Amino acid sequence: MIKVTIWNEYLREKSREDVAKVYPDGIHGAIADGIRQEGFAIHTATFNEPEHGLTQEVLNDTDVLIYWGHAAHKEFNDAIVDRIYKRIHEGMGLIVLHSGHHSKLFQKLMGTSCDLLWREADEKERLWVADPSHPIVEGIGPYIDLPEEEMYGEHFDIPVPDELIFISWFEGGEVFRSGCTYRRGQGRIFYFRPGHENYPTYHNKEIQRVISNAVKWTAPVKREKTFYGFHEPLEQIKK
Ligand code: ZN
Repeated sequence: MIKVTIWNEYLREKSREDVAKVYPDGIHGAIADGIRQEGFAIHTATFNEPEHGLTQEVLNDTDVLIYWGHAAHKEFNDAIVDRIYKRIHEGMGLIVLHSGHHSKLFQKLMGTSCDLLWREADEKERLWVADPSHPIVEGIGPYIDLPEEEMYGEHFDIPVPDELIFISWFEGGEVFRSGCTYRRGQGRIFYFRPGHENYPTYHNKEIQRVISNAVKWTAPVKREKTFYGFHEPLEQIKK
């Protein structure tokens, strides 16, 4: 059973009525409901919990971390960023959603600013599948239409992705690399763009399916811990 921790900042749902209307149980609640039928063991954590709810114990018991944040990136504790970063290198999977692109964690993993263009104009987004062979798009058609979303546009200041899974088109004319995979150490990372807090994106069945597929894809490969450092020869070395 894959152990998933859904981390959501959970500040806008409490401070803005329009967001609370779309996500009465929080964004983390909607994502949990959307992927629960896959049989994952789901835990949720939020910014205002002690250590942002991401203690070493919680991370040690997490196979895949899903991360949504926006308003409090600067206030996120640096020591906890380092702790998550280390767990990813050890093999924990990470799914970074939407405005998580500007989190300290994602910037540290990418080594770039992760800047982009943005606009809130209730416009249509069409996410085209750019890699139909990839497990993350299992069960998904040629594209996903979202009637209203925030626009994110190129240039997106990220390293060239290992795999480009989705390319978004927006009604206003921009395009964006909306689904990108990376490997860092033994961990797999998936960045997935949609999910501005006042649109019902995480109630969309296809978006939920992509997140479920991504949990399975980013889950760690079970094997003994990789060894680094001095190594005794396996065979006798002839002098
Ligand atoms: Zn947003």
